[in-house]
Amino acid sequence: MRREVVVAVAGNPNTGKTTFINALAGTRLRVGNWPGVTVEKKEARLKFDGTEVRLVDLPGTYSLSPFSTEEIIARDFLVKEKPDVVLNVVDATNLERNLYLTFQILETGRPLVLVLNMYDEARKRGLRIDLEKLERLLGVPVVPTVAVKGEGVREALETAISKVRDPEPSISSPRYGEEVERAISELENWLLEKGTPALGKYPARWLAIKLLEGDHEMMREAGLEELPGLSGVEHLRSAHGDPAEILAETRYAMAAGIVRECVTRKEIRPDLSEKLDRIFLNRYLGLPVFLVVMWLIFKMAFDLSAPFVDWLDTLVAGPLNETLAWALRLVLAPEWFQSLVLDGVLAGMGTVAVFLPVIFAMMFLITFLEGSGYLARAAFVMDRAMHLVGLHGKSFIPLLLGFGCNVPAIYATRVLESRRDRLLTALLAPLMSCGARLPVYVVFAGAFFGARAGTVIWSLYLVGITAALLLGSIFQRLLLRGESSFFVMELPPYRLPGVKYLLIHTWEKTRHFVVKAGTYILAISVVVWLLLHLPPQARTLEESYLGRASKAVAPVFAPLGFGNWEAAASLITGFLAKEVVVSTMGEIYGLGEETGGLSSEGFPGESWRKALLELPRAFLEAGHNLIAGIFPVSLKPEEAEASLLASIRKAFDPLSAYAFMVFVLLYMPCMVVLAAFYAEFRSLRLVVLMVSSHFLLAYTLSLFLYQVGKFLAYGG
Ligand code: GDP
Ligand code: MG
Repeated sequence: MRREVVVAVAGNPNTGKTTFINALAGTRLRVGNWPGVTVEKKEARLKFDGTEVRLVDLPGTYSLSPFSTEEIIARDFLVKEKPDVVLNVVDATNLERNLYLTFQILETGRPLVLVLNMYDEARKRGLRIDLEKLERLLGVPVVPTVAVKGEGVREALETAISKVRDPEPSISSPRYGEEVERAISELENWLLEKGTPALGKYPARWLAIKLLEGDHEMMREAGLEELPGLSGVEHLRSAHGDPAEILAETRYAMAAGIVRECVTRKEIRPDLSEKLDRIFLNRYLGLPVFLVVMWLIFKMAFDLSAPFVDWLDTLVAGPLNETLAWALRLVLAPEWFQSLVLDGVLAGMGTVAVFLPVIFAMMFLITFLEGSGYLARAAFVMDRAMHLVGLHGKSFIPLLLGFGCNVPAIYATRVLESRRDRLLTALLAPLMSCGARLPVYVVFAGAFFGARAGTVIWSLYLVGITAALLLGSIFQRLLLRGESSFFVMELPPYRLPGVKYLLIHTWEKTRHFVVKAGTYILAISVVVWLLLHLPPQARTLEESYLGRASKAVAPVFAPLGFGNWEAAASLITGFLAKEVVVSTMGEIYGLGEETGGLSSEGFPGESWRKALLELPRAFLEAGHNLIAGIFPVSLKPEEAEASLLASIRKAFDPLSAYAFMVFVLLYMPCMVVLAAFYAEFRSLRLVVLMVSSHFLLAYTLSLFLYQVGKFLAYGG
């Protein structure tokens, strides 16, 4: 009886190796790590037609040169553990690229069965593969499979086992042309004559090839400083250059040749997905289209939500305020408590709550882009830009999530394989403009840019992305050198997302803003109110704790155009959450005004009736805005809000307002983000690095914008 048969499953990443093993082994799959490294190791033991089989899932690699951890693991397993047979899983739709690795596996001298997976995809794309010819050219059995459906997987394993059982298995080894072969066999003979201990461990031909490639590890194992001056090797060098390159080129050329021989493509009409990709993924159009799509998203988000923000705003300032005041008087609440509720909670939390429709609209549209398949294309388009900072498009996905909230963006960096990529992406994620910044933009852009508010806010999102690229390239040069690991981007099909999908995922993204407004922001509003009213002997807000502290730091911001203490106060408290920038201003400026004047003694029923009758109009207006599209966002300030906007207009001008928005966007990740970042990376030094780099970047950028803007406007 034969011992257990060891089958290595090898191939490029994403060719379906794991799916293949799963289809055979089901629940018998065991997941662990390769010794000493964090690369996942999947293994399964099963009995197949009376044979004990151990299936080992090797890490996906494109080659066996020992550069990455994955390559080293795969190569060591093949040449040191010498599995009985290798199932080389290849992507049938991408045969040419996959064969490069196939040749390298064949060099190790292991018996090999080529598993032509994704055969369904290949057929769908009109590829016809001549299996017999492929078997003949490669000299190995070829089995087509559709691993996801379990088709062909048993045949593949059966073929592999019969290959092991074969008393005289034919080992196929690729032949690399006369000159290369001469050098290889010369080296092989030389090694055999010399008799190095490495020959006991590794197949002679493989060792010769590695030495020819100048593989350091194998040179060491063979006890060589440099290659012996054999005539064939010298000839190869002088006539063609670096043998390693010649070998690589030869493998590629052979792969291309085999594909030309065996694969034909039926002309099929491009489907809608391909047509759309021609536009969205176009080299030149891709980026402009992405920017336009984003701009449309912002415009729509604001056109849709503006009437509701207006409506909520009148509701809070009018009937809600009046009702609370009425109820507080009714229960004979003391003066200070009335102030806490009206000037603290309502002015603080209420100011933020009215912007929930903007956040909701924004998240709805982002969800739509996600579900439609476009967002994956955006990541693809951004891939090239991301490479500038040593990251790839896959990192753009956590960053895109950051448009919702930076906290999940930090956690989403887990999708990235290397720690370097994860850290770099997480350091940049808080620069993405999250939903909490929206209220700030809406107030300031609404106050100063009126009809162009949507475009101004869009530009801030671009500032965020640009800042991330900028800081990323600095980090990459100074701290986190290295190339990003290679990966293949997946492009899901385009589809129209369903209503249920949209609502569920929009709610997922918005829910925490609603909860946050009702809890965290509420609590902060109370604290801010206290800080604005203590010590008791303070006569004006400026004399309060918050006022005094803010006055002390305000001069720091004067060169950026906003040296007033109110701005400083909202930036200090804004560290707790970015919405708080607005709620603090609401409390300060709301308090500055006389809160009296709500003269009616009884329940403000008339006020409610009027407000509720306005609601249908908000819907009509939103619909109208959406259809007309060109109509500008008009935030009609009224009552309490009017005093906020009026005060902001007095304290800022358009230029300093813009510099302020840029500063709020970048100056510091909020406390919750910092906590998440710390939880993921467990390093206070990294937290300090993040905070200081963001602050410095924000300061420099706002200073530059404000000073250059002033110079251009006033000529020095
Ligand atoms: P691995 O990286 O080689 O382990 O690849 P996985 O097993 O993780 O598979 C990568 C992706 O390809 C998954 O989304 C699979 O569902 C999909 N996949 C695997 N086999 C097939 C197949 O035969 N046909 C199709 N259409 N998809 C497949
Ligand atoms: Mg896998």
